[in-house]
Amino acid sequence: MENCLFCRIAAGEIPSSKVYEDDRVLAFRDIDPQAPVHVLLIPKQHYANILEADGDTVAYMQQIIRKIAEELGIAESGFRVVINTGEDGQQTVKHLHMHILGGRSMQWPPG
Ligand code: AMP
Ligand code: ZN
Repeated sequence: MENCLFCRIAAGEIPSSKVYEDDRVLAFRDIDPQAPVHVLLIPKQHYANILEADGDTVAYMQQIIRKIAEELGIAESGFRVVINTGEDGQQTVKHLHMHILGGRSMQWPPG
């Protein structure tokens, strides 16, 4: 989708610090990390948010979270997955993304 930041990152038009890529998804480091590990996982296909995405895509992303967590060494220590959605969810980029946060004890509630 034109003018979508994450579509442009998925297309390689905007550089990113990639941690995983295949034909369906891309994972890259958040530009403003909130934890020692802060990765964004996106589908390459544009969905505005989690409500727009199909279950198969979300299930696939869950498998990739496992792979990323293992590769980045946070599978055992644990991590947090955040999917900000809509206005109250303070979603700023309107392309589905899962924040994977770890490498420290995550406080709750978040700020
Ligand atoms: P959200 O607030 O859930 O929509 O999250 C958007 C996230 O995208 C924020 O954590 C930003 O720091 C991150 N972000 C924005 N631009 C970039 C970029 N060019 N590369 C990597 N992460 C980005
Ligand atoms: Zn998009």
